[in-house]
Amino acid sequence: MAATNNGRNGITDREKTVEALMRRLSGCDRLIKGSLVVNRRRCGNPRCRCTRGELHESLAITYKERGRSVLVHVPRHLNTAARRAIENYHDLKRIVTQISELNLNEFKERASKDREQRRRMTAQRYGKSE
Ligand SMILES: [Zn+2]
Repeated sequence: MAATNNGRNGITDREKTVEALMRRLSGCDRLIKGSLVVNRRRCGNPRCRCTRGELHESLAITYKERGRSVLVHVPRHLNTAARRAIENYHDLKRIVTQISELNLNEFKERASKDREQRRRMTAQRYGKSE
């Protein structure tokens, strides 16, 4: 993305984008770092539909704790909340990555501009022409 100046307040498009992303960050709802897995099982009742292959499905959240996978059962009434919380986590991660890239680009440009300025000043001091 080009860092174009809009002429007012010296705010660049990039800064505007970062601000918008930061607003999305602060608007993020409840989040959970983990993945959803679907468990399918038979209940043990010999007359249940699951004996005919229609297995019971339930959701679980898996996440890592000190390098080990942990499974948390999700009750049916919390399925939507669990999905949303995990999506929110991934959204937030994407936003943080975007902000980081924009800030890094700005940093690189600033660093190279400073380098160029210092080079010019040194050249002037020693009376060299560009
Ligand atoms: Zn069953």
